[in-house]
Amino acid sequence: MTSEPPPPTLRLTVDTDALAENWQALNTMSGAARAGAAVKADAYGLGIDICVPALVDAGCRNFFVAHWSEVEAVARYVAPAQISVLHGPLTGEDCAYAKSVGAKPTINSLHQAKLWLDAGGGPCDAMIDTGINRLGLSPNEVAEPLVAQLEVDLLMSHLASADEDSALNGVQLARFADATNAVRYKYLSLANSAGIALGANYHFDITRPGLALYGGVPRPEMAPDLRQVAHLQAAIIQTRQLSAGDSVGYNATFTASQTMRVGVISLGYADGYLRCWSGIGKVTYKGQSLPVLGRVSMDMIVVDLTAAEALHEGDWVDIPWHLLDAADQSGMSQYELLTGLGPRLRATR
Ligand SMILES: *Cc1c(COP(=O)(O)O)cnc(C)c1O
Repeated sequence: MTSEPPPPTLRLTVDTDALAENWQALNTMSGAARAGAAVKADAYGLGIDICVPALVDAGCRNFFVAHWSEVEAVARYVAPAQISVLHGPLTGEDCAYAKSVGAKPTINSLHQAKLWLDAGGGPCDAMIDTGINRLGLSPNEVAEPLVAQLEVDLLMSHLASADEDSALNGVQLARFADATNAVRYKYLSLANSAGIALGANYHFDITRPGLALYGGVPRPEMAPDLRQVAHLQAAIIQTRQLSAGDSVGYNATFTASQTMRVGVISLGYADGYLRCWSGIGKVTYKGQSLPVLGRVSMDMIVVDLTAAEALHEGDWVDIPWHLLDAADQSGMSQYELLTGLGPRLRATR
């Protein structure tokens, strides 16, 4: 009896060279500032164990996660003091954990400042909310004595509309510059991926790209400098012949108008190939485009094999996953396309 499962019928390949080149490109675009990396949500679904070592080798030193549960995986590859936990502490237990592992909490409120100081304080980061109205100290709170007691390493804010030419960008920049006067800190950080393209005023000391590292294109002018990182492939697990009038999939949304050959592909919405691709998606084989027919199921899609007579069970097709194009086609955001990849699509090295 064997205990190893046979190879899967779908795969995610992470191009770590492209990831490293994207980090380098973003680091260069950041000018005098140094690029960090947002690696929350398992490096946007592509895997901490694959992405973080590649980013470290490329030269990245600042890593951002959202949850305390995400620290341990990143700390296998970097000193905990280089890890910033964006949600900060909610309880004294969170502070105790931060102190025991040595990762930095991001202080987002006076309540969090008090929790952290009550736990003994120490190096932390702090977030000022300059207009996204999500997490962060309000500009009118930064002069509070509690904040003055913090040992702030990175003083941050986060842009709401950096992917657009919005007046809000300038407003947030001005509020951030103003608020930083009231706080002691070592470094300043404002820009996410899109913010890096807004120009030198937005760079400060450290930038925090996420999406663009993984091949997302938050602003069109960044496209020439960013390479696709995530590549998807799936196997044909059955082929069949349809006659005119035969329908395909749930709710019979496709009906063949003539005899045609179709292939059943081992990929579905449980893998992150969402139902919005129904009837509009395409997979490719050696550059040949094969339309998705009918509804996307949980574990399968059916594609038209008319253009690829030679394809049979066991052959593999490519799933176009250039994030900008895929987002345009599907109406999903590039972020959702990445982080929505399912548990059967965990990349291996
Ligand atoms: C997720 C996140 C980032 C990275 O944003 P991208 O748009 O993916 O580049 C940067 N800063 C904060 C605070 C974040 O939450």
